[in-house]
Amino acid sequence: MARKVTKIGVLTSGGDSPGMNACIRAVVRTGIYNGLEVFGIMRGYSGMVEDDIVPMTTRSVANIIQRGGTILKTARCMEFLEYEGRKKAYDNLTKRGIDGLVIIGGDGSFRGAQTFSNEFDIPCIGLPGTIDKDIAGTDFTIGFDTAVNTAVEAIDKIRDTADAHDRMFIIEVMGRDAGYIALHSGVATGAENILIPEKKTDINHLIQSLLEKEKRKKLVNLIIVAEGEEFGGANELSKIIKGQIPSLEVRVCILGHIQRGGSPTCMDRLIASRMGYHAVECLVEGKHNVFVGIVNNKMNYTPINEAVKKKQRINEEWMKIVKILAT
Ligand code: ADP
Repeated sequence: MARKVTKIGVLTSGGDSPGMNACIRAVVRTGIYNGLEVFGIMRGYSGMVEDDIVPMTTRSVANIIQRGGTILKTARCMEFLEYEGRKKAYDNLTKRGIDGLVIIGGDGSFRGAQTFSNEFDIPCIGLPGTIDKDIAGTDFTIGFDTAVNTAVEAIDKIRDTADAHDRMFIIEVMGRDAGYIALHSGVATGAENILIPEKKTDINHLIQSLLEKEKRKKLVNLIIVAEGEEFGGANELSKIIKGQIPSLEVRVCILGHIQRGGSPTCMDRLIASRMGYHAVECLVEGKHNVFVGIVNNKMNYTPINEAVKKKQRINEEWMKIVKILAT
């Protein structure tokens, strides 16, 4: 029987994503509802290592559900990669009696949680807070819906000007290792091509299709490129295309960090609230060291040791749909 948890800490770690605040709010309020003391750990694992930990009340999370970013701040913490750093973190938690953790972050943060929970007797619950949607064991990650909607809004605007001038645009969206933002925003905006890190691009085929489109006077082409695709992003791809078809007017637009910020969508607030609530339930019920996801609209719990091994895979059906619809 797992030891009863009485004081919990919540932190946001790695890249920020819209909806993290809604999730913090849910963890704090569900914890207090269950009679737990709740602490906010500042700047991801750095706050644990440097003892930057603050008590939270139901009021500390008032008026944040609609805000992007994270009130707890986030960071990448090098010290936590070493045993000495993690031991310091453990000592700082135990001196306050913190005996459970909720970690909102991406796969790197889960690797940290895995290592920590294997070394020390503090149960960790992982929640997927990432705009990349690249975590297996969940259909949703907190922040993806907002990020992809921001990208769609921007790409729609670019299409207006592309159409007015009969121009081709290469638009770079976020995704160093994952192509989900590119894939979903590309399908939703009717992009002609989508280049993602998970799939090899046949550049000759791409050039041929552009030449063929030029012949039949289809000059408006939107190519959506994930930042981590094999050619090195939109600028590099533009050079390759201009090198092969000098007559083509190509413009590049890099959407960048606007995709991370902004008020979370209704969907992100809902999943953040639901996941935050269930993370605390897990700690209370003794379901420890799991990663909480949602699959087919049901809560899904993956042991944290397994969660770090798997990556979300790209659904091949989407690539086929893109090919057929973008003619
Ligand atoms: P994300 O969670 O967005 O994927 P990172 O990959 O930067 O972001 O990971 C966030 C933090 O998690 C790192 O800065 C580090 O403190 C911690 N972390 C990542 N991998 C490990 C690991 N193997 N062992 C311990 N801590 C880790």
